[in-house]
Amino acid sequence: MHYMQVPSQVEYERATSVEHALSLLSRPDTRVVAGGHSLIPMMKLRLAQPEMLVDINGLAELAYIKLDGDQLRIGALARHADLLNSAVAGERFPIFHDAERVVADPIVRLWGTVGGSLCQADPSEDLSAAFAAARATAVIRGQDGDRMVPVREFHLGPYETVIGRGELLAEVRVPVRPGTGSAYEKVARRVGDWSVAAVGAVLCLSGGLGRNPQVIESAGLGLTAVGAEHFVAAEAEAFLVGQPPGEDSFAAAGAIAAEHCHPVADQRGPEDYKRHLVAELTARALRRAADRARLKP
Ligand SMILES: Cc1cc2nc3c(=O)[nH]c(=O)nc-3n(C[C@H](O)[C@H](O)[C@H](O)COP(=O)(O)OP(=O)(O)OC[C@H]3O[C@@H](n4cnc5c(N)ncnc54)[C@H](O)[C@@H]3O)c2cc1C
Repeated sequence: MHYMQVPSQVEYERATSVEHALSLLSRPDTRVVAGGHSLIPMMKLRLAQPEMLVDINGLAELAYIKLDGDQLRIGALARHADLLNSAVAGERFPIFHDAERVVADPIVRLWGTVGGSLCQADPSEDLSAAFAAARATAVIRGQDGDRMVPVREFHLGPYETVIGRGELLAEVRVPVRPGTGSAYEKVARRVGDWSVAAVGAVLCLSGGLGRNPQVIESAGLGLTAVGAEHFVAAEAEAFLVGQPPGEDSFAAAGAIAAEHCHPVADQRGPEDYKRHLVAELTARALRRAADRARLKP
């Protein structure tokens, strides 16, 4: 097969403020460029042909990771490496450190952004599943202000999100709850590669004091690269609530997640292998998330 290796003609503007970016984005066929690690290759292959690129790399006000009350707030321009190196994110949500350790390679991580990962809406994007598991909220900014969209409703399908003309993703907010543990487990063919399959788990445990048995109060399960609707294993999550955290419930949740996802056979493996991975990785992620939850007050 023969592909073009040069993008078609495109206008370029470097945004000097969020307001400037939003006004440029109100023009038709205009796209944000953040790290460019996904968009530029797609333009070279002419899978994307925007008329104008709005470069947001100068917008330092969108690059932060901070704890604010009971929310972890991550600016859309935070780089993968920033999330990997953030002590506050790692302490509250080890799932993000687990995931970032296996996103691509250090070069991509240094420049690729959290916002670009979510907006790319590639079914294999690791952070989409991690944020879905954590029940995060996307803050979408337009000229009329912000609107909040749960990450679980942010993706409309492969390479499609709810972001409209004149808008950009400004921030991702993750609710912080006590008694929570989280983990991300990925299988790739080689270091730095996209997932064959991956699973993120966020567990909130209660009880375990005196004679009260410990139970799962809430469970978030995100699946990567296996055709899960909105990256979520909803049936397995529902099963887990009220269960004791242990090997039996984790294995049962894995079987449910594997049954309800929709992997397709490709160069990374056949469908039944991917389902097998979902079952196994779900149990592993739940086990690690529960261990981490128990270590916390
Ligand atoms: C070799 C290689 C290996 C990779 N491996 C992995 C992997 O294993 N796992 C994984 O998850 N990812 C992987 N990636 C993808 C990488 O994580 C993403 O390409 C990158 O993080 C996307 O972010 P970006 O900032 O580069 O986005 P860009 O390429 O700049 O943009 C991607 C899309 O998002 C839009 N966009 C960006 N920011 C915003 C915003 N704030 N608001 C609205 N729209 C926005 C752009 O318009 C574009 O449509 C890999 C990439 C490469 C090149």
